[in-house]
Amino acid sequence: MFNSKIIQKDFPILQNMLNGKRLVYLDNASTTQKPQVVIDAISGYYSTLNSNIHRGVHTLSERATDAYENTRTKVAQFIHAEESSEIIFTRGATEAINLVASSWGETNVNEGDVIIVTALEHHSNLVPWQQLVKRKKAELRIIPITDDGFLDLNNLDTLLSGSVKLLAITQMSNVLGVQTPIKLLVQKAQEIGAKVLVDAAQGMAHLGLNVKELNIDFAAFSSHKMFGPTGVGVLWARKDILEAMPPYQFGGDMVKEVFPFEATWNDVPWKFEAGTPNISGVVAFGAAIEYLESFSFADIQEHDQKLYAYARTQLREFPKLKLLGPEDPAKAGGAVSFVVDGVHPHDIGSILNDSGVAVRTGHHCAQPLMQRLQVQATVRASFSIYNDEDDVDALIGALKNVYEIFKI
Ligand code: PLP
Repeated sequence: MFNSKIIQKDFPILQNMLNGKRLVYLDNASTTQKPQVVIDAISGYYSTLNSNIHRGVHTLSERATDAYENTRTKVAQFIHAEESSEIIFTRGATEAINLVASSWGETNVNEGDVIIVTALEHHSNLVPWQQLVKRKKAELRIIPITDDGFLDLNNLDTLLSGSVKLLAITQMSNVLGVQTPIKLLVQKAQEIGAKVLVDAAQGMAHLGLNVKELNIDFAAFSSHKMFGPTGVGVLWARKDILEAMPPYQFGGDMVKEVFPFEATWNDVPWKFEAGTPNISGVVAFGAAIEYLESFSFADIQEHDQKLYAYARTQLREFPKLKLLGPEDPAKAGGAVSFVVDGVHPHDIGSILNDSGVAVRTGHHCAQPLMQRLQVQATVRASFSIYNDEDDVDALIGALKNVYEIFKI
C-alpha cells in the first residue's frame, strides 16, 4: 500500500496554501493535479524537442514524432490494446465519443436502430447519442438505476430487444463513484450483435481498463483525469472497426494524397488525427501513464474504498445531510456526493473553499442523473492517490462551519 503523504510531495500544487490554509484538493473527478514529472515533460518538450511531427526530415521533427508516437505505444500497452495503431489521440473523452457518434454512428446507425446508455452518464456520453438518434430517426434507451445508483438490470432483456447497435456505458459514475457491470453488459451485447463503448474518463485513474479482457469495441478517456495535461484524450477501438470508419475531420496529416478535387486517406490511426495535435500534451501524457503505472490498481482501489468509507462515516453524523450513492465501499469509490437540506450546494462549496477545501458543486454534467436522484445539485468530494484521512477531516471541519453559519 502506498503512503499518500509521500505522494503529495510529487505534486507541487499541493504544497501551496489556499485562502491562507493548506490546499485540500477534493475535486479529482473534475481533473487530477499534475506530478512534477508531467510538468517537467511539458517544459522538457518545449526546451529540447519542439517541432511539428510527421512532416520534417530534420532531427527535431523526428525526435518529436518519436516522442509523440512513444506515448501511443504506452497507451496501447496500458489498456492492453492489440496494436498501437488502435489509439487515436483526441482533445479528450468528449471528442473521442463525438468521433464515434459522428463517424461510426453516421455509417452504422439507421432508422429504427437502438442506442443504449445508462442513467449514470456524463453529458459527454449522452448528448452525442441524443443527436445521432435524432439525425437518424433511431431510438435512445436508458438503463435505469436503483435509488443508490446501481444499474437496475431487471428489464435488461426488454431494453436489448430490437435492432440494438451500441451500448455506450460509463465505467464509473463521476457523481456517485458507482462502477458498472461491464462484463455482463458486453456478454449481453454480444448475444445480439451490438457493440460496446466504455466511457472510461472517470474510471481510468481508479480502475485502469483492460480492453482485451473486457472484450469491448470502443473506449474513450482523458489524460487530465489521470495526472496528465488537459487537451489530450484517447479513442481506442478495434482496428477492423477503425479501418471501416470514415474520417471525422479533414485537413493535414489525415490524407495520403490530395488532388484538386479529390483526396485519399492516411492509414489508421492518422486518418483520425487531422491537423497539428497537442504534441507537448501527448508527450507529457506518456509521463503521466508511467507515473500511474508506478502504482497498482489494487492498491488504488483499496485506498479509494478506505477514504469513501471514512468520509461517509463522518458525513453521516451531520443532521439534515443526505448521502447519495451506495453504502458498500467495495462497489464504489473515488467520489462521495451529498446534499444538505435547506442549503444550496454552491453555498457549501464556497464556505469549504474559505477553509482551503476544494470540492465540486453543481450537477456535474449529469443533469438526468440529478433528476433521477431528485436533487438540483450535489456537493461532491472526489479522491485521488494523494488524499488521505487528514483531507477528509479538513472537509468535515470545514463543513461544521457551514452548519454554524446556517445555524443548522
Ligand atoms: N465522462 C465522464 C464519466 C466524465 O467524468 C467526464 C468528465 O468529467 C467526461 C466523460 C468528459 O471528459 P472531458 O471533459 O475530459 O472530455
